[in-house]
Amino acid sequence: AIPLVVAISTAVSAQNGLLIRNRTAFEESRKISAILFDKTGTLTKGDFGVTRIESVDKQYTTDEILRLASALEQSSEHPIAVGIIKKVKETNVSIPNPENFNAITGKGVEAKVEGKQVKVVSPGYLRDEKITIPKDAYSDASETVVFVLIDGKLAGYIALADEIRPESANAIKVFKKNNIKVFMATGDNEKTAKAVSEKLGLDGYYAEVLPHQKVEIVQELQSEGEFVAMTGDGVNDAPALAQANVGVAVGSGSDIAAETADIILVNSNPQDIANLILFGKATYNKMI
Ligand code: ADP
Ligand code: MG
Repeated sequence: AIPLVVAISTAVSAQNGLLIRNRTAFEESRKISAILFDKTGTLTKGDFGVTRIESVDKQYTTDEILRLASALEQSSEHPIAVGIIKKVKETNVSIPNPENFNAITGKGVEAKVEGKQVKVVSPGYLRDEKITIPKDAYSDASETVVFVLIDGKLAGYIALADEIRPESANAIKVFKKNNIKVFMATGDNEKTAKAVSEKLGLDGYYAEVLPHQKVEIVQELQSEGEFVAMTGDGVNDAPALAQANVGVAVGSGSDIAAETADIILVNSNPQDIANLILFGKATYNKMI
C-alpha cells in the first residue's frame, strides 16, 4: 500500500508547484532547520534590465562592448543573457556570430568573435584571475555587474537590475516563525548580495560564490548541526543539491540538477517551500 503521507504529499504538492521526486523528502521537510537559497530567479524575479554599459579600455565604445557581449549571450539562457539581448534589440547594433561558444559553468560565457577571444563573466571569475575590478562598477547596490574581457583584458562591464520577488518576504516570515534560518548563496557581487539579504532580513549570505564552493557552504551549515535544504537551478548546483539534506531544483532546472534533487520547485517560488514545510509539520503532528 502507498503510505498515507506519500498519498497526501503527492496531492498537496501537485497543487502547490512542487514535484516530489524522493518519497522521504516530504517527511524530511519538517526537520529542515536552515535553507540555503540561490538568489537569481528564486529570491529575485530573474528578470534583468540593462541599467549601464561602461567602457574601461577606451579603445572599445559601449556599443562595441554590447555588440561583442551579445554575440555570446544570444547562445545563453541565463537571465543575465536574456537581459543583455533585450537591450541590444532596442538598439540598431547588429549581433555578430560567435565561434566555439562555451558556457563557463557558474561563471559566465566565452567565444571567439571576429578573431577576438571574448568572455562575459562574474566578479568571482575576475577575482580568481586577479583582474582588478574598477571601483565604480559597484556604485549602485541594486545592480548586478558582469564583466566583458577581450583577449584576456577587461574591456568594460554591463550593469543590470533585477527585483526581489514579492513572495520572498512572506516565505521568509514563515521560515522565521518556524525557527528556520535562511541563507543565500550567489555568484553576484558582495554589495548587491548584502542589499538583498538586508532587505529580506536573511540570517546570512555568501556572495561571489563559485560553483564548487556551494557544496562547502552546505557542509559548513551541516557541521553546525543544521538540517539543510538548498535550492539550485543549474548543472553546477547538482553536487550541492546532492549534499543537502533536502535538495530543491528550481524552475525547469537543468536535467542534471533536477535528477539530483529531492524536490522540483516548478514556479521557482520560495512561498511553495514555506507551504511544504508547514504542511509537512501539520501532517506529521496529526499522525503522532
Ligand atoms: P546566480 O544564480 O547566483 O546568478 P549562476 O550560477 O547562475 O548563479 O551564475 C553565477 C554568476 O556567473 C552570475 O551571477 C554571473 O555573474 C555569471 N554568469 C553566469 N552565466 C552568465 C552569462 N550567460 N552571462 C554573463 N554572466 C554569467
Ligand atoms: Mg543561478
